[in-house]
Amino acid sequence: MEKCHPATDGGAIKMTSAPRQDGPKESCGVFGIFVPGTDVSRLAYLSLFALQHRGQESAGIASSNGEAIVLKKDLGLVAQVFDEWSLAALKGDLAIGHTRYSTMGSTRWENAQPTLRRLDSAQFALAHNGNLTNTAVLAAELGTQLASTDTDLMAEAIAEAYTAAGGEGGIALAVAASVPRFGGAFSLVIMDQERIIGVRDRHGFRPLCLGRLDHGWVLASETAALDVIGAEFVREVEPGEMVVIDRAGVKSSRPLGKADPRLCVLEFVYFSRPDSVLNGTNVHLARRRMGEVLAAEAPVDADVVVPVPESGVPAAQGYAVASGIPYSDGMVKNRYVGRTFIQPDQVDRDRAIRMKLNPMPSVLAGRSVVLVDDSIIRGTTTRQLVDLVRASGATEVHLRISSPPYRWPCYYGMDTPDRAHLLAAARSVAEIQDSLEVDSLGYLSLDGLLEATGAGSGGMCSACFSGDYPTSVPIDADKLLLERSE
Ligand code: SF4
Repeated sequence: MEKCHPATDGGAIKMTSAPRQDGPKESCGVFGIFVPGTDVSRLAYLSLFALQHRGQESAGIASSNGEAIVLKKDLGLVAQVFDEWSLAALKGDLAIGHTRYSTMGSTRWENAQPTLRRLDSAQFALAHNGNLTNTAVLAAELGTQLASTDTDLMAEAIAEAYTAAGGEGGIALAVAASVPRFGGAFSLVIMDQERIIGVRDRHGFRPLCLGRLDHGWVLASETAALDVIGAEFVREVEPGEMVVIDRAGVKSSRPLGKADPRLCVLEFVYFSRPDSVLNGTNVHLARRRMGEVLAAEAPVDADVVVPVPESGVPAAQGYAVASGIPYSDGMVKNRYVGRTFIQPDQVDRDRAIRMKLNPMPSVLAGRSVVLVDDSIIRGTTTRQLVDLVRASGATEVHLRISSPPYRWPCYYGMDTPDRAHLLAAARSVAEIQDSLEVDSLGYLSLDGLLEATGAGSGGMCSACFSGDYPTSVPIDADKLLLERSE
């Protein structure tokens, strides 16, 4: 494990990342806390546990005692990165934290967050969830050779603005001056020695909420991270809003102009924890409603509804209730497969999928099965699952997906393959059905999905289903763009 780094943001790679799976890839989790007079690093640690699902490549916490920022970050899960010793070294009553899934830059220690900058007369740390769409332009404008991620570029821009202002107005003013240069998706939590700052891009692609803990304040990607430390949800940081939290309280401003809310609809389908609340809607209940609407839109005669665990469970429950077809768990998921040193590509295809999901013939044999999952990205795992369900004796497999066909890449913080590798990119639903060799296939409509989230017809990004991007997007997005030019 790395030791804390009070003076530098450099270091060596110590651990390998968790293996990737065939499904939507999480974005990142961000967190900030300021409770005057209380050591907060343990609270930050607990909240990062609640944000672990958003990124498993690396984790980090930066804290301040009012004089200097101390940083501890490393590759690995939250429980692997921190121990009693490192948390004890993270002193102070304000801190920010991060869990990472990379959408820009490789999985290496330097790219773990928070990112720390020390200037002549200031220091700040930054944690980012999202993905910039103008990385190449920003890199050219800043002329930096040091950045390997869009997060580094944002830190560079803030440092440049601070220096240009001669330190006048501090880091908060530098942040306000810099964020209009950032295109695309960013929910940021930033700190200097005396304050934490939260900013959301004007579309609010990625969530960020504000909570109250005793006489202090908390910022978090999801409300579940507030719950775990007993903080009370106050409100969401609004799209385009910046909040500065110091001993005087919370100050709100709008450095990004008019808001055009477009929260990522995949937050409801997949990314967010079921116990989180987004836009006033509980995520688990929204997923159940997706299943209910799906049952109305794509009904079928069958014996049993079986989820692909765990992603398909709430939608399968909703589908079963609305259709009247009994629900049953027909597969068991091994939650620890991400921790094994035997990687799936080291064993044969059938054993690899069984390492993750094992079907139960006692539930499936001789039955016509409605198999429910939340999405299909490449289709590789889905095809294997269908084979396994059949091999377990199912007489028919009717696949139901609680989101629309995933046809377009995301540029806003979800790691998606090229269009060429998206199963639905150039196929009709009938062609996908043939390709997966299922007896029938039904997707939830986009209107049905938006209805289930409570969003109705507006206020959400659904570009990966519709191709209707809320911003201009790069023609040739390259996750390693900055590292290739190093
Ligand atoms: S393109 Fe899709 S995954 Fe990306 S922000 Fe929009 S809805 Fe979310």
